Amino acid sequence: MLFSDYHNHPQGHRDDLPYTQELLMPWAEYARKANLSDVVLTDHGRYHKGVNLEEFLIFKDKVKDINFKSGIEIDNDPETSKADYEWMEKNFDRLDFVLGSIHFIDDWAFDHPYYKEQFNDWDIDELYSKYFDNIKKLINKGFIDGLAHLDLIKIFGHRQKKEIKFFVEDVLKLVKQKGLTVEMSTAGWRKPVNELYPQHEIILMIKEMNIPITTASDAHTAKDLGYGYDRLYKMLKDYGFNQVAVFEKHKMKLIPV
Ligand SMILES: [Zn+2]
Ligand SMILES: [Zn+2]
Repeated sequence: MLFSDYHNHPQGHRDDLPYTQELLMPWAEYARKANLSDVVLTDHGRYHKGVNLEEFLIFKDKVKDINFKSGIEIDNDPETSKADYEWMEKNFDRLDFVLGSIHFIDDWAFDHPYYKEQFNDWDIDELYSKYFDNIKKLINKGFIDGLAHLDLIKIFGHRQKKEIKFFVEDVLKLVKQKGLTVEMSTAGWRKPVNELYPQHEIILMIKEMNIPITTASDAHTAKDLGYGYDRLYKMLKDYGFNQVAVFEKHKMKLIPV
Protein backbone atom coordinates (compact mmCIF):
# COMPACT_ATOMS: atom_id res chain seq x y z
CA MET A 1 0.00 0.00 0.00
CA LEU A 2 1.01 3.63 -0.39
CA PHE A 3 2.31 5.16 2.82
CA SER A 4 3.93 8.46 1.89
CA ASP A 5 2.60 11.90 0.96
CA TYR A 6 5.31 14.21 -0.32
CA HIS A 7 3.43 17.39 -1.15
CA ASN A 8 1.29 19.22 1.42
CA HIS A 9 0.42 22.75 2.48
CA PRO A 10 -0.46 23.27 6.17
CA GLN A 11 -0.65 27.04 5.54
CA GLY A 12 -2.80 26.60 2.43
CA HIS A 13 -2.67 29.87 0.53
CA ARG A 14 -2.54 32.12 3.59
CA ASP A 15 0.30 34.17 4.97
CA ASP A 16 -1.28 34.60 8.42
CA LEU A 17 -1.14 30.94 9.50
CA PRO A 18 2.41 30.33 10.75
CA TYR A 19 3.33 26.88 12.07
CA THR A 20 1.97 26.28 15.56
CA GLN A 21 1.08 23.01 17.29
CA GLU A 22 -2.61 23.88 16.72
CA LEU A 23 -2.04 24.29 12.99
CA LEU A 24 0.04 21.13 12.58
CA MET A 25 -1.78 18.65 14.85
CA PRO A 26 -4.72 18.01 12.47
CA TRP A 27 -2.17 16.99 9.83
CA ALA A 28 -1.05 14.17 12.12
CA GLU A 29 -4.65 13.20 12.80
CA TYR A 30 -5.62 12.99 9.13
CA ALA A 31 -2.34 11.36 8.11
CA ARG A 32 -3.19 8.62 10.62
CA LYS A 33 -6.70 8.25 9.18
CA ALA A 34 -5.18 7.87 5.71
CA ASN A 35 -2.70 5.24 6.99
CA LEU A 36 0.29 7.39 6.08
CA SER A 37 3.57 6.87 7.88
CA ASP A 38 5.88 9.27 6.01
CA VAL A 39 4.68 12.82 5.28
CA VAL A 40 6.54 15.92 4.11
CA LEU A 41 5.19 19.39 4.73
CA THR A 42 5.95 21.47 1.64
CA ASP A 43 4.37 24.88 1.99
CA HIS A 44 4.77 27.29 -0.90
CA GLY A 45 8.05 29.19 -0.88
CA ARG A 46 6.21 32.50 -0.74
CA TYR A 47 4.90 31.56 2.73
CA HIS A 48 8.33 30.58 4.04
CA LYS A 49 8.03 33.13 6.84
CA GLY A 50 5.40 30.89 8.42
CA VAL A 51 7.54 27.74 8.18
CA ASN A 52 8.86 27.80 11.72
CA LEU A 53 11.28 24.89 11.89
CA GLU A 54 11.47 24.98 15.70
CA GLU A 55 7.69 24.53 15.92
CA PHE A 56 7.99 21.79 13.32
CA LEU A 57 10.55 19.88 15.39
CA ILE A 58 8.38 20.07 18.52
CA PHE A 59 5.49 18.70 16.46
CA LYS A 60 7.65 15.96 14.92
CA ASP A 61 8.79 14.92 18.37
CA LYS A 62 5.23 14.65 19.68
CA VAL A 63 3.98 12.51 16.80
CA LYS A 64 5.74 9.20 17.26
CA ASP A 65 3.78 7.03 14.85
CA ILE A 66 4.24 9.14 11.70
CA ASN A 67 7.57 10.22 10.32
CA PHE A 68 6.96 13.89 9.51
CA LYS A 69 9.59 15.70 7.47
CA SER A 70 10.21 19.30 6.63
CA GLY A 71 10.22 20.64 3.10
CA ILE A 72 9.28 23.51 0.84
CA GLU A 73 7.72 23.88 -2.61
CA ILE A 74 9.94 26.30 -4.46
CA ASP A 75 8.78 27.83 -7.75
CA ASN A 76 9.35 30.65 -10.22
CA ASP A 77 7.15 33.31 -8.62
CA PRO A 78 8.46 36.52 -10.23
CA GLU A 79 7.83 38.51 -7.06
CA THR A 80 8.92 36.19 -4.28
CA SER A 81 11.19 33.46 -5.62
CA LYS A 82 14.41 35.38 -4.98
CA ALA A 83 13.64 35.65 -1.26
CA ASP A 84 12.23 32.10 -1.25
CA TYR A 85 15.48 30.72 -2.63
CA GLU A 86 17.48 32.67 -0.06
CA TRP A 87 15.42 31.22 2.77
CA MET A 88 15.65 27.71 1.28
CA GLU A 89 19.41 27.89 0.79
CA LYS A 90 19.92 29.17 4.32
CA ASN A 91 17.81 26.35 5.78
CA PHE A 92 18.76 23.66 3.26
CA ASP A 93 20.48 21.41 5.80
CA ARG A 94 17.46 21.52 8.10
CA LEU A 95 15.04 20.55 5.34
CA ASP A 96 14.47 16.97 4.21
CA PHE A 97 13.00 17.62 0.78
CA VAL A 98 12.79 20.47 -1.72
CA LEU A 99 10.00 20.21 -4.23
CA GLY A 100 10.30 22.20 -7.46
CA SER A 101 7.40 23.51 -9.51
CA ILE A 102 6.44 26.02 -12.18
CA HIS A 103 3.37 28.14 -11.46
CA PHE A 104 4.18 31.11 -13.71
CA ILE A 105 4.71 31.89 -17.37
CA ASP A 106 6.44 35.27 -17.07
CA ASP A 107 4.06 37.16 -14.74
CA TRP A 108 1.03 35.00 -15.46
CA ALA A 109 -0.15 32.64 -12.68
CA PHE A 110 -1.52 30.24 -15.29
CA ASP A 111 -2.95 27.72 -12.81
CA HIS A 112 -5.17 30.31 -11.11
CA PRO A 113 -8.82 30.00 -12.28
CA TYR A 114 -9.10 33.78 -12.24
CA TYR A 115 -6.59 34.15 -15.09
CA LYS A 116 -7.47 31.11 -17.16
CA GLU A 117 -8.86 33.17 -20.08
CA GLN A 118 -5.24 34.03 -20.89
CA PHE A 119 -4.79 30.52 -22.30
CA ASN A 120 -6.66 31.86 -25.35
CA ASP A 121 -3.85 34.31 -26.07
CA TRP A 122 -1.38 31.51 -26.78
CA ASP A 123 -0.49 29.04 -29.47
CA ILE A 124 -0.84 26.01 -27.25
CA ASP A 125 2.36 24.29 -28.41
CA GLU A 126 4.35 27.47 -27.82
CA LEU A 127 2.89 27.65 -24.35
CA TYR A 128 3.77 24.01 -23.62
CA SER A 129 7.33 24.65 -24.88
CA LYS A 130 7.70 27.66 -22.65
CA TYR A 131 6.28 25.83 -19.63
CA PHE A 132 8.65 22.87 -19.98
CA ASP A 133 11.60 25.21 -20.69
CA ASN A 134 10.84 26.86 -17.37
CA ILE A 135 11.04 23.44 -15.69
CA LYS A 136 14.47 22.86 -17.22
CA LYS A 137 15.62 26.26 -15.92
CA LEU A 138 14.28 25.42 -12.48
CA ILE A 139 16.16 22.10 -12.43
CA ASN A 140 19.36 23.78 -13.59
CA LYS A 141 19.17 26.30 -10.76
CA GLY A 142 19.78 23.37 -8.40
CA PHE A 143 18.65 22.51 -4.86
CA ILE A 144 15.57 20.60 -6.07
CA ASP A 145 15.09 17.00 -4.90
CA GLY A 146 11.93 16.26 -6.87
CA LEU A 147 9.44 17.80 -9.28
CA ALA A 148 5.80 18.54 -8.46
CA HIS A 149 2.81 18.15 -10.82
CA LEU A 150 5.00 17.82 -13.92
CA ASP A 151 2.31 18.68 -16.49
CA LEU A 152 0.40 21.30 -14.48
CA ILE A 153 -0.03 23.36 -17.66
CA LYS A 154 -2.93 21.00 -18.60
CA ILE A 155 -4.88 22.04 -15.47
CA PHE A 156 -7.91 23.48 -17.30
CA GLY A 157 -7.82 20.89 -20.08
CA HIS A 158 -5.83 22.77 -22.74
CA ARG A 159 -3.93 20.06 -24.59
CA GLN A 160 -0.85 20.33 -26.73
CA LYS A 161 -1.06 19.43 -30.44
CA LYS A 162 2.35 17.81 -30.91
CA GLU A 163 3.03 14.55 -29.09
CA ILE A 164 3.72 15.20 -25.41
CA LYS A 165 7.05 13.38 -25.80
CA PHE A 166 8.30 16.31 -27.91
CA PHE A 167 8.01 18.62 -24.87
CA VAL A 168 8.88 16.26 -22.04
CA GLU A 169 11.70 14.05 -23.24
CA ASP A 170 14.51 16.55 -22.53
CA VAL A 171 13.03 17.37 -19.14
CA LEU A 172 12.99 13.71 -18.13
CA LYS A 173 16.56 13.22 -19.38
CA LEU A 174 17.62 16.10 -17.15
CA VAL A 175 15.65 14.65 -14.23
CA LYS A 176 17.43 11.34 -14.72
CA GLN A 177 20.84 12.97 -15.06
CA LYS A 178 20.39 14.99 -11.86
CA GLY A 179 18.94 12.05 -9.91
CA LEU A 180 15.60 13.73 -9.14
CA THR A 181 12.16 12.28 -8.54
CA VAL A 182 8.85 13.02 -10.26
CA GLU A 183 5.67 12.99 -8.21
CA MET A 184 2.49 11.11 -8.99
CA SER A 185 -0.02 13.71 -7.87
CA THR A 186 -3.67 12.96 -7.23
CA ALA A 187 -4.36 16.73 -7.15
CA GLY A 188 -5.13 16.52 -10.87
CA TRP A 189 -8.25 14.51 -9.97
CA ARG A 190 -9.56 17.52 -8.03
CA LYS A 191 -8.96 19.96 -10.92
CA PRO A 192 -10.96 20.64 -14.11
CA VAL A 193 -8.63 18.39 -16.17
CA ASN A 194 -9.60 15.48 -13.87
CA GLU A 195 -6.46 13.48 -14.60
CA LEU A 196 -3.44 12.44 -12.61
CA TYR A 197 -0.31 14.62 -12.88
CA PRO A 198 1.46 13.53 -15.00
CA GLN A 199 -0.57 12.05 -17.84
CA HIS A 200 -0.39 8.47 -19.15
CA GLU A 201 2.29 8.90 -21.87
CA ILE A 202 4.60 10.68 -19.44
CA ILE A 203 4.14 7.96 -16.81
CA LEU A 204 5.14 5.39 -19.43
CA MET A 205 8.33 7.36 -20.15
CA ILE A 206 9.11 7.68 -16.44
CA LYS A 207 8.72 3.92 -16.03
CA GLU A 208 10.80 3.20 -19.13
CA MET A 209 13.60 5.53 -17.94
CA ASN A 210 13.46 4.08 -14.43
CA ILE A 211 12.99 7.51 -12.82
CA PRO A 212 12.02 7.23 -9.14
CA ILE A 213 8.60 8.54 -8.13
CA THR A 214 7.08 10.11 -5.04
CA THR A 215 3.37 9.93 -4.23
CA ALA A 216 1.48 13.09 -3.35
CA SER A 217 -1.92 14.62 -2.77
CA ASP A 218 -0.90 18.32 -2.81
CA ALA A 219 -3.32 18.72 0.13
CA HIS A 220 -4.11 22.33 1.03
CA THR A 221 -6.34 21.09 3.84
CA ALA A 222 -5.51 18.20 6.19
CA LYS A 223 -8.48 16.08 5.17
CA ASP A 224 -7.04 15.80 1.64
CA LEU A 225 -3.94 13.94 2.84
CA GLY A 226 -3.64 10.70 0.89
CA TYR A 227 -6.46 11.80 -1.44
CA GLY A 228 -7.30 9.13 -4.04
CA TYR A 229 -4.54 6.81 -2.84
CA ASP A 230 -6.44 3.52 -3.34
CA ARG A 231 -7.00 4.44 -6.97
CA LEU A 232 -3.42 5.67 -7.34
CA TYR A 233 -2.04 2.46 -5.85
CA LYS A 234 -3.96 0.31 -8.36
CA MET A 235 -2.76 2.51 -11.22
CA LEU A 236 0.87 2.38 -10.16
CA LYS A 237 0.70 -1.40 -9.84
CA ASP A 238 -0.79 -1.61 -13.35
CA TYR A 239 2.14 0.45 -14.67
CA GLY A 240 4.52 -1.92 -12.90
CA PHE A 241 5.88 0.40 -10.22
CA ASN A 242 7.07 -1.49 -7.16
CA GLN A 243 8.88 1.26 -5.26
CA VAL A 244 8.38 4.83 -4.14
CA ALA A 245 11.05 7.30 -3.11
CA VAL A 246 11.28 8.86 0.35
CA PHE A 247 13.78 11.45 1.57
CA GLU A 248 15.61 12.33 4.73
CA LYS A 249 17.86 15.41 4.65
CA HIS A 250 17.75 15.24 0.83
CA LYS A 251 18.94 11.61 0.74
CA MET A 252 16.67 9.40 -1.31
CA LYS A 253 15.65 5.88 -0.34
CA LEU A 254 13.46 3.56 -2.40
CA ILE A 255 10.80 1.66 -0.45
CA PRO A 256 8.84 -1.30 -1.86
CA VAL A 257 5.08 -0.85 -2.16
ZN1 LIG B 1 2.27 23.59 -6.93
ZN1 LIG C 1 1.61 22.49 -3.90
